[in-house]
Amino acid sequence: MANGDKPPLTLIGSGLAGALLAAHLGKAGYELDLYERRPDPHAGNLVGGRSINLALSTRGIDALERIGLADEVLRSAIPMRGRMIHAVSGQTIFQPYDKDPSRCINSIGRGALNTIALDAARKHAGVRVHFNHRCVDVDLDAPRARIVNTETNAEIESTGRIVIGVDGAFSAVRGAMQKLNRFDYSQSYLRHGYKELTIPPVAGGGFAMEKHALHIWPRRSFMMIALPNPDGSFTCTLFWPFEGPSSCAAIRTDDDVRRFFDSQFPDAVPLMPTLLKDFRDNPTGSMVTVRCAPWHYRDKVALVGDACHAVVPFYGQGMNAAFEDCVALTACMERFAPDYGLAFAEYEALRKPNTDALADLAIENFVEMRDKTASRAFHAKKKLERTLHTLLPGSYTPLYTMVSFTRIPYAEARRKAQAQDHAIMLGAIGLVVLLVLVVLAVSLAT
Ligand code: FAD
Repeated sequence: MANGDKPPLTLIGSGLAGALLAAHLGKAGYELDLYERRPDPHAGNLVGGRSINLALSTRGIDALERIGLADEVLRSAIPMRGRMIHAVSGQTIFQPYDKDPSRCINSIGRGALNTIALDAARKHAGVRVHFNHRCVDVDLDAPRARIVNTETNAEIESTGRIVIGVDGAFSAVRGAMQKLNRFDYSQSYLRHGYKELTIPPVAGGGFAMEKHALHIWPRRSFMMIALPNPDGSFTCTLFWPFEGPSSCAAIRTDDDVRRFFDSQFPDAVPLMPTLLKDFRDNPTGSMVTVRCAPWHYRDKVALVGDACHAVVPFYGQGMNAAFEDCVALTACMERFAPDYGLAFAEYEALRKPNTDALADLAIENFVEMRDKTASRAFHAKKKLERTLHTLLPGSYTPLYTMVSFTRIPYAEARRKAQAQDHAIMLGAIGLVVLLVLVVLAVSLAT
């Protein structure tokens, strides 16, 4: 054992969750080697080749707070207080996220968040980070990760007594576990892809649209969103089917792109001077839901974050949930050590039902964002939710509030929201019946 009774660890992947987990485990006194296939993000390298900014909310902030990073991260973030809905006509409507205007989600750059967590991890003497090191296989029983230095092609073997896979949706560590007898695994791709585009700051600096909002252009079968960045720009993401009459496949030329944007997002086009270049140059990403079980192999290997539960991004919770994993795993390891098999089992029992619920919620929210946010019924429903939340504080909490502004476990939030919807439906039916009876009684009496 490296440090008292704490075994040395090997972490694979220093993305959002890997860096944060290293900081949590480093603080708890573990000695660990963290291997990341990409170069050091401090040198300005892309962190993920994926979304440039993300929405950070209460669950993620809590995980940062526990290691003293929340203030530093939030200083680089932009609060978003609600959705700004853009109609095709260019009309905009603002929908606050909560009855309390101080409750907001926060737009934060992936790179900024990752480097802050990495710096925090490296402050602990026991944490060593190795960039340009790709894990190619894991011997689960040893346990031992085979790792290739991508600059020299030299191969090394990990020395940790436990291997933790924090290597994202296409995890090499999970890949090794998938060969186990009775390992459950499913992946399901959305038929939509996503492409990132840019709205730069206005001449002289400043934001071209409302700064403190998440902008949405809902267009039923597809949508575009935009999140603000500290430099005054917005990162737009177009979510669009891969195939079909209105899809990535149907757009071939710059003229097609311009026609499509002019017809669907006419208010955004004048703000996007690099639209055609961005559209041409930026890749179209895919979105996958990954579920698997178990999340661990004996007391030797465990999975964290997207490696065990990638979700589609429409609730803005994938990273927030992965950060909750880091807190839960560290707590279980501290509580059950030296029985790490029990620690991993308890961690999985705590987290899996919740990330399963989140996977469903995230897909449902895609339909809500692209399809319903534009409708009057949706605005009325959101207003009713805010009113009930104000009138019945303790008894009624909207689902979005529970997911984004509390740490109520996702599965419990979902159950509670279903019960609330049911009660409202019964109340509405009761009210209608009462009204009919009153009308009948009045007409009989006259
Ligand atoms: P990753 O961030 O993918 O990190 C995995 C790391 O492992 C990477 O650095 C990778 O290079 C490394 N790696 C992979 N394989 C190997 C290997 N073999 N050897 C060594 N290293 C390896 N979540 C939110 O909470 N809010 C949002 O607003 C939000 N928006 C999103 C928008 C989009 C378009 C997408 C796609 C996702 C979004 N998410 C959001 C989800 C979020 O990005 C993920 O949940 C989060 O990145 C998961 O963190 P992770 O560390 O588990 O995985």
